[in-house]
Amino acid sequence: MNNRLSGETIDMRFTPTELSKQELELQREVRGFLLEELPPGSHEPCLGMAARKNKEFSLKMADRGWVGMALPTEWGGSDRTAVDRFIVVEEMLRWGAPVGHHWVADRQTGNVILKFGTEEQRERFLPAICRGELGFSIGMSEPDSGSDLASVSTKAEATTGGWIINGTKIWTSGAHENDWFVCLLRTSPLEDGNKHAGLSQFLIDLKSPGLEISPIPFLDGSHHFNEVTFNEVFVPETNVVGDLGMGWHQNTTEMAYERGGPDRWLSPFSTVEQLLREARGTDLEPVVSDLFGELIARWWGIRNLSLSVARLIDTGEAPSVESSLVKEMGTRFEQEVIEKLVHLIDLEYSPDSDSLFERLLAQCVVTFPGNTIRGGTIEILRSVASKGLKGLPA
Ligand SMILES: Cc1cc2nc3c(=O)[nH]c(=O)nc-3n(C[C@H](O)[C@H](O)[C@H](O)COP(=O)(O)OP(=O)(O)OC[C@H]3O[C@@H](n4cnc5c(N)ncnc54)[C@H](O)[C@@H]3O)c2cc1C
Repeated sequence: MNNRLSGETIDMRFTPTELSKQELELQREVRGFLLEELPPGSHEPCLGMAARKNKEFSLKMADRGWVGMALPTEWGGSDRTAVDRFIVVEEMLRWGAPVGHHWVADRQTGNVILKFGTEEQRERFLPAICRGELGFSIGMSEPDSGSDLASVSTKAEATTGGWIINGTKIWTSGAHENDWFVCLLRTSPLEDGNKHAGLSQFLIDLKSPGLEISPIPFLDGSHHFNEVTFNEVFVPETNVVGDLGMGWHQNTTEMAYERGGPDRWLSPFSTVEQLLREARGTDLEPVVSDLFGELIARWWGIRNLSLSVARLIDTGEAPSVESSLVKEMGTRFEQEVIEKLVHLIDLEYSPDSDSLFERLLAQCVVTFPGNTIRGGTIEILRSVASKGLKGLPA
């Protein structure tokens, strides 16, 4: 791509790619596993990464080597590639599998600990993550810091043997059910003109004394996220992840893993698939088939961009520009899909309907507005991409 303002040439690294023979074999294996474990009609599909937590299911996936699969065998992983993980995740989400328990640990926390953690942290957390045992949350947002994440003010102050934490994190998905979270905290005061300095990442036990977790009910009344308050919470020195003051850089790397995967474009798939099933033999069938054709073509395009992000990760890159663009396009597409379904069926859908499609649609309508917000809003993703393309820091 040519930057017309500066004349400088900037590469966008979306390279066309196909799955290899071995990768297609893995895809078949995952499909077989799902058919056996969750035969069609045996479970209510989950909507993408907002999947139910089912530790038993996570343990079964882990038994197959599909949790933390891209982590080295030395730490309990399977030394597989980001593309292999893409294949497993794509199949799980397409099927609406209950992957919530290991989701965050598998997608990002394991990578963060591998990349920036100490040997002791790797030994303590990575094998347990790969066994599907540990559930992690993300401790980034605060009441006054969402998009402007570098302005976080929850403070960690040095004390004997560790740190004392005071402040509040918000929108912490699953904090009430998970075991740990990785928090971005301020370890030295805000410097004039450089808010990215003085931030550090910490591993924090969600059961720590002084840590209070309060539910924030979702629009439909369900309990998904929380406010987490720290009142003089002690965290040992050994739980600092990476170098002090490097939290911003580490956090940006973490978000490259977080943004470009199938979870950012596949969430409505099982709802569309269910509509196809229920429309079969009715007046709606031709119009639903047309819509399905249109959606699949667009899905395939975004899917290929997302797959090429996974290939880039396998070359050792942290493709923050490309993954931001995938999330921007993918989550906007997810909302468009739901708008189209709502217009198409033109009926009162209800969360208590006998029709599975209607129940799923009702959930999508209530929860999907969050998809373009969580993990970075549309505006912020565009800003990350445009700064990256100009060679500026995020
Ligand atoms: C379902 C869900 C789950 C979540 N889970 C977690 C979690 O587990 N952990 C966690 O830490 N956070 C989580 N979040 C929080 C999420 O990351 C933040 O909501 C998000 O980063 C936006 O921050 P904010 O809500 O403070 O909005 P704000 O930053 O106040 O933004 C409000 C509006 O202003 C726009 N805006 C802000 N700044 C700019 C700018 N510079 N240029 C242009 N427009 C701008 C935004 O795009 C947005 O439209 C979750 C959110 C949702 C919806």
